[in-house]
Amino acid sequence: SGADDVRYAQPFERHHGRMWKWFSFAFNGNLANFTELRDRLLSKRNYYFTLNTDTEILMHSLAYRLRGEQPPVLRDVMASLGRTFDGAYNIVFLDALGRMFVARDPLGLKPLAYGLQGRLFAAASESVALSNMGFTDIKTLAPGEMVIIEKGKLRVERFAPKRRPAHCFFEWVYFSNVASTIDGSSVYMARARSGKRLAELEDQAIDENCIVVPVPDTAKAAADSFAYELGIPSAEGLIRNRYVGRTFIQPNSTRLASARSKYTPLPSVLEGKKVFLIEDSIVRSTTLATLVDQIRRRGKAKEVHVRVACPPIVSPCFYGIDMSTIGELFAPKFTPRNYTGDPSPDMLAKMATKLNLDSLRYLAVSDLGPCLQVDGRNLCRGCVTGSYPTACGNRLVRAAKRNKNKTGRSYE
Ligand code: SF4
Repeated sequence: SGADDVRYAQPFERHHGRMWKWFSFAFNGNLANFTELRDRLLSKRNYYFTLNTDTEILMHSLAYRLRGEQPPVLRDVMASLGRTFDGAYNIVFLDALGRMFVARDPLGLKPLAYGLQGRLFAAASESVALSNMGFTDIKTLAPGEMVIIEKGKLRVERFAPKRRPAHCFFEWVYFSNVASTIDGSSVYMARARSGKRLAELEDQAIDENCIVVPVPDTAKAAADSFAYELGIPSAEGLIRNRYVGRTFIQPNSTRLASARSKYTPLPSVLEGKKVFLIEDSIVRSTTLATLVDQIRRRGKAKEVHVRVACPPIVSPCFYGIDMSTIGELFAPKFTPRNYTGDPSPDMLAKMATKLNLDSLRYLAVSDLGPCLQVDGRNLCRGCVTGSYPTACGNRLVRAAKRNKNKTGRSYE
């Protein structure tokens, strides 16, 4: 994580005269206890920071564990980090002695795959990167484990005690490439099962005037299976502008303009139709509100019903998915005080009115496990329930609720 500045680009390298203290590393995740770790390094260990990113915290933390007159055991380095870090932290590391490791945090919040083919080793967050390189035997690194390569030999070691994992469900729903497999479960099949489940829950009358339209591209698998189950055609009523990036990860200043030019509605497909628009998720609703307006105005659709292959996002993510603050999210404005994850009909009706929809339905929190084919208790569902798998995540959400009208990261 970090600003739009080349100094934040990974990998980071730390130079040193001793070869085991000269290292380079890259990191996927977010340290939820960033503030505490930074304060400790500043006040107790006299480290100095030039950037505002947890990657620099990680660099200093690694440097501290590599101090001393002898190269430390790499498993001990990760074990020590695991005792102080709270959050998601998959790390690839290489030192000037040629020692290398790839580690996955003890909760397995982010995916991590690796492959070995002949003398070639590769690791990546997404299995698709390895399959595209020609790897055929792709393995998942278990949470709390690390692959260590020293003197040309590879071994897998556990650096943290085994505990219940908390895989980020949002990787399947939106973030990962549809061709990836995460912890043994295909992203494509998870999305297709979500569409099927939405079809099972459908309560609208279906007739020959209905069409299913996916929001390209992440909702395509869900839309196709939703349409197949209900026996109605799935059509490309929206064409994606390939030159606009993901609005989800763009700054507020450009997100609205990007959302407006992101899709072109096709009146030849949409005009006069009862449209079931399938969306992977609703975070801030910027893109969806613009789309619905375009489908009605330019596309001339008769009705617009939105079906979302994810439960309502009601809380921020503290583990590296940039959902920003409670105030910026769409759903929290409609959730009752004791909300635990499944919206009431009244809540759905109010949300639909706000978005100018004929109806709105979401996947239920209890559907995530069966759709992803992962035990629901082994998933992080913090952003859809408000209950997080780490102590720091639960502390931060309490602070976020107290500060929800502030701008910026409300939990700091
Ligand atoms: S809070 Fe949501 S987005 Fe963040 S890791 Fe958990 S499931 Fe994923």
